[in-house]
Amino acid sequence: MALINEHFLKLAGNYLFADIAKKVNAYKATHPQAHVISLGIGDVTQPLCPAVIKAMHKAVEEMAVKSSFKGYGPERGYDFLREAIIKNDYLPRGIKLDINEVFINDGAKSDTGNIQEIVRWDNSIGVTDPIYPVYIDSNVMIGRAGVFENGKWSNVTYFPCTAENNFTPQIPDHRVDMIYLCYPNNPTGTVISKEELQKWVQYALKNDTLILYDAAYEAYIRDESIPHSIYEIKGAKKVAIEFRSYSKTAGFTGVRCGYTIVPKELTAATLDGTKRIPLNPIWDRRQATKFNGTSYISQRAAEAIYSPEGKEQVKKVIDYYMENARMMREELTKLGIQVFGGENAPYLWVKTPEHTDSWKFFEQMLYGASVVCTPGVGFGPSGEGYVRLTAFGDRADCQEAMHRITTWIQGL
Ligand code: PLP
Repeated sequence: MALINEHFLKLAGNYLFADIAKKVNAYKATHPQAHVISLGIGDVTQPLCPAVIKAMHKAVEEMAVKSSFKGYGPERGYDFLREAIIKNDYLPRGIKLDINEVFINDGAKSDTGNIQEIVRWDNSIGVTDPIYPVYIDSNVMIGRAGVFENGKWSNVTYFPCTAENNFTPQIPDHRVDMIYLCYPNNPTGTVISKEELQKWVQYALKNDTLILYDAAYEAYIRDESIPHSIYEIKGAKKVAIEFRSYSKTAGFTGVRCGYTIVPKELTAATLDGTKRIPLNPIWDRRQATKFNGTSYISQRAAEAIYSPEGKEQVKKVIDYYMENARMMREELTKLGIQVFGGENAPYLWVKTPEHTDSWKFFEQMLYGASVVCTPGVGFGPSGEGYVRLTAFGDRADCQEAMHRITTWIQGL
């Protein structure tokens, strides 16, 4: 008899966005005339830039000819892309990486979810709260998160990030084995300063903590003083793995490509504490067994964003989304609504009115303005009292959504 991994049964029955879709469908069924604008799910809307399309076409043509056809690629990814990453994303920030510290993947979701496999199941974990749900759910699946009680997992340390602490998580006063940090943050759209990130790296060095640093939104950073990579902090290579993605940087949500940096200096201890094991070859071993790489076409597409035209075109799209964010912040602020984020990230974190919880505000906005947001509590207990709006919509949709929200709020 095959026995189920019962940890899966502890997971909430539905993924957050499935719950939202259900409620939106119910609304559409009773309001068939309504044109619903979704500023909920964090997916991009603008097409791939011309440099990427050109590179993809060329790669497809190569695949059509025997002499240039590609089968399985190198497990860690093609050198042309790994070299471009080091040269463009890290060297200009004074970070030197060896090519074998770069692992190309099919987007950051897989690696942020899979990385926990290479450490013992009984490591303790810490997360900023609210949080991108993949970090916790992937740990629940292996039994590391404990039991779910009163909106929290028993073996997870939560670092609340709310308006009260200016979205600055407090360094824990006890040891935590693995800590997930995500900056610029999804869902709050807030960022971390170099000084604050330094404190986390110091904590990790002192406590032998592994930091899992998700920088999927680094391309949205506008403020020059904000770090793009955790490796801008001295000592971070000894304690941190970094995840990046082309999904939001270059509209690759449907193309699928990203990468993970596992520094060679990074180690973890054996149970008896007598040995330090480098994590780079362990991750390599894991990937070689369970992952066969992302497509050649996707990797050529990613390489193209580092060309001079690619850089310019990608920047234009990011500027477009960030102008949406600016405009949305301005319109909501005019209504007296408290808005956070949206200055160095494509997400706006909106405070709900007093005595209105985040699911209730979600429904009010849906029924009052036909606009879909994401209830903050879906990202963790400290997300209660907020909703997330994304700036990834078409400009006209974002403007129409703000117009409708204004009419709705003013009519209350
Ligand atoms: N990390 C964060 C914080 C995200 O918000 C997302 C996607 O929404 C991902 C990772 C995964 O992105 P992808 O798998 O498309 O690279």
